[in-house]
Amino acid sequence: MIDLATLKDKLAEPCQIVITTHHKPDGDAMGSSLGLYNYLIQKGHHVKVISPTDYPYFLQWLPNNPEVVIYTEKEEESKKLVAEAELIFCLDFNALSRINELGEEVRKSWAIKIMIDHHLEPEDFDDYRHWSINASSTAELIYDFIANRLNDGNLINKDVATCLYTGIMTDSGSFRFPNVTSNLHRIVADLIDAGAENWRIHQQVYDNTTENRLRFLGFCLTNRLEVFREFNTALISVSKEDLKPYDVQTGDTEGIVNYALSISGIKLAAFIVERSDKVKLSLRSTGTFPANEICKKYFNGGGHRNAAGGASDESFAEVVKKFKSILPEYKNLLLQ
Ligand code: 5GP
Ligand code: MN
Repeated sequence: MIDLATLKDKLAEPCQIVITTHHKPDGDAMGSSLGLYNYLIQKGHHVKVISPTDYPYFLQWLPNNPEVVIYTEKEEESKKLVAEAELIFCLDFNALSRINELGEEVRKSWAIKIMIDHHLEPEDFDDYRHWSINASSTAELIYDFIANRLNDGNLINKDVATCLYTGIMTDSGSFRFPNVTSNLHRIVADLIDAGAENWRIHQQVYDNTTENRLRFLGFCLTNRLEVFREFNTALISVSKEDLKPYDVQTGDTEGIVNYALSISGIKLAAFIVERSDKVKLSLRSTGTFPANEICKKYFNGGGHRNAAGGASDESFAEVVKKFKSILPEYKNLLLQ
């Protein structure tokens, strides 16, 4: 581990920096990464953001998005960037498996690795850590890192603010989850003062859907929603065949699970989707119900207490069956 003074010394001179984030990045992952990018370039650093995979179109408008390198599209370039980096920022994840093959490249790199994250149980691969599970989002921690650790609040310009606002907004469910504090609203106020156009950001992310996507949501709610009142649980499960007529793209299934959770009395909501290579699971819960425990124990995953995910190599039908079969184990907690 290195201390803040050493990190500050390192950042005092222009250096080669890589920023990376978890695969299939969401609004917080991309907002944090490009927020930090737009700050670091003002200091004269040579910076690249590497995403392990592609990401939704409704995040591709973020300031300097064209500068992002996608590992699966440019493997050699990405490996070279990691190998030559002096500093690697690892944002919104804390286990190298979350960045796929890029994880091994980061592990063997001699760069100083900085983890900025808000997930439970961090792995020990970093040299400097700005980590809190109480943070609403990694973007909130990036704000704190720039403004309070590096004392560079004056460099939070419109581009930085726009990215960080996007991260906070998406990870806090538009400012409605329990980790939204008065302090977070003060940070958000600062971001708006710095130029973040809150209404425009909401529009770009949430009112920017394709007709297909909206119709697919309608299909899910009408035909694939199951409600298990005896367990206060709702499930939406969609097979590969279900996706085809709607030309479902990366990001199109994001947020569907929240509709299941919005039913009154529902404590646990699940979205199970059959992807080409595996079956992916998204869980959401309310109150103290530990969605992450189910993901960790049964679906090779993890996450936060109220928002977690996992994946399985078993068949789609098997995963759906398995999910239903574990509900009795949690009956007491679900009915509390
Ligand atoms: P989502 O359901 O939106 O894909 O993921 C919700 C949260 O669950 C993410 O922010 C992340 O913390 C966690 N998560 C999702 N998928 C995985 C996974 O495969 N492994 C782990 N460890 N966490 C995951
Ligand atoms: Mn996050």
